[in-house]
Amino acid sequence: MQYKPKNPTISLHISPQMWQSFRESMLTAKTNNEEVIGFFFCERQQISRYQIRYFPLVWVVPSPDCYEEQLTHGLVLKQSFHLYLLKTYVEEQRLHIVHIHTHAGGETPNFSWIDDHHESHYAKFISTYSKSKIRFISGVFDRFLQQSQFRIWDRKGEFCQSVFFHNSWFENKDCLTVNNEKDLRFDRQQVFGESLQKQLGQLTVTLIGCGGIGAIFAELLGRLGVKNWLLIDPDRLETVNLNRMPAATSRMAQNRWYKVHYVKGLIKNIYPQGSHVKAIATSIENYSSQREIAQSDLIVVATDNHRSRQLSQELALKYMRPLMCLGTHIEIRDKMPRMYCRISVPPLGGGWCLMCGNIINLQQAAMEVAPNEIQHLAISAGYLEGINDPAVFWLNSICASTGVGIIQGMISGFLDLKEGLDWIYHFPSSNWLKTDVEYMTTSNCYFCANHPE
Ligand SMILES: [Zn+2]
Ligand SMILES: [Zn+2]
Repeated sequence: MQYKPKNPTISLHISPQMWQSFRESMLTAKTNNEEVIGFFFCERQQISRYQIRYFPLVWVVPSPDCYEEQLTHGLVLKQSFHLYLLKTYVEEQRLHIVHIHTHAGGETPNFSWIDDHHESHYAKFISTYSKSKIRFISGVFDRFLQQSQFRIWDRKGEFCQSVFFHNSWFENKDCLTVNNEKDLRFDRQQVFGESLQKQLGQLTVTLIGCGGIGAIFAELLGRLGVKNWLLIDPDRLETVNLNRMPAATSRMAQNRWYKVHYVKGLIKNIYPQGSHVKAIATSIENYSSQREIAQSDLIVVATDNHRSRQLSQELALKYMRPLMCLGTHIEIRDKMPRMYCRISVPPLGGGWCLMCGNIINLQQAAMEVAPNEIQHLAISAGYLEGINDPAVFWLNSICASTGVGIIQGMISGFLDLKEGLDWIYHFPSSNWLKTDVEYMTTSNCYFCANHPE
């Protein structure tokens, strides 16, 4: 077996929720010690010259009656069933095939020479079966479906290349080298473990909206250890912002600093060296480089309009990146202030989203991009909120700091977000309302519905 050098990095990304269902189904299908097989059918995304990702839309674990024989040394699917899979997912939907099988042991499995032989033939077969450039990826797991190895075959069945497998919210980048110099800045949080600090240091966060919530969020997550940022916001600092932007000065407002440059300054204050911050002073609608967003590990949207949140959600779904949405709302009713903040993290890869979860209003999103005359009409009719919504530093801080806590929980694993999260804080009752996300899952959302199994 030869491995070709200098190819782009190839990875397979399966959402935690999909992986859990698949794994349970595989373990159930396995009655004794025999091998089990399963399939994923994937879309391919070229993220850059050096990076290609595969995302499954569908998974299939054949039931025992789909096999000709089921023995410890190999499995043969019934031909009719196999052809049905190929016709439906490869021919009609042009999805790439991932074939997964298990080996009997509990340690990290290796592909056997029988695997090499069969897979090489299969890769050739697929290239003759389909004219569109369908690729074949194979994975082998131990009997518990924990340890694995993945590889992708060329269309001649001659070469294969290793594939990185990710089934969590964030990519495990342990393969990268990090300098092990002890950073005293994090001395008081080392109780959370070296691995958290390392992962934070390698994380790249896209922040859409660098206003009252976004700026605090960046300051807090920066202090926790995140050094790599992509900042997107078209607005400039104004005097009216000074009640809620940490360390912002009148002079910055007078000089009309872009908010992205001001937030970049916050990060650079923490990390004069060793940080990478790209500041883009444009709106997400005009920002053409989706690839840069696709390359980041997390998208955080903290804007004051529905349209940009909708676009952020669409990008998060398209590139299967985790999304966090932060917002606050203040209203006065009968002289009584009611204040809310909301943190929403839709599940990775779909299930529910900002649109079907009614966290943003699509009508309002459409209105926000409507021509000026229509907008004026909408405002006078009460359909659009004013731009100068009330906002205070302390409420924004509750929102931003809870968001940062959730990210820490996602990375460390002490928060289970498989089905997503939607928390709403209400003040002065000082209650956290947690939406039961189990009931938010939809099967027919235009934006996020998962394809049927
Ligand atoms: Zn095998
Ligand atoms: Zn949805």
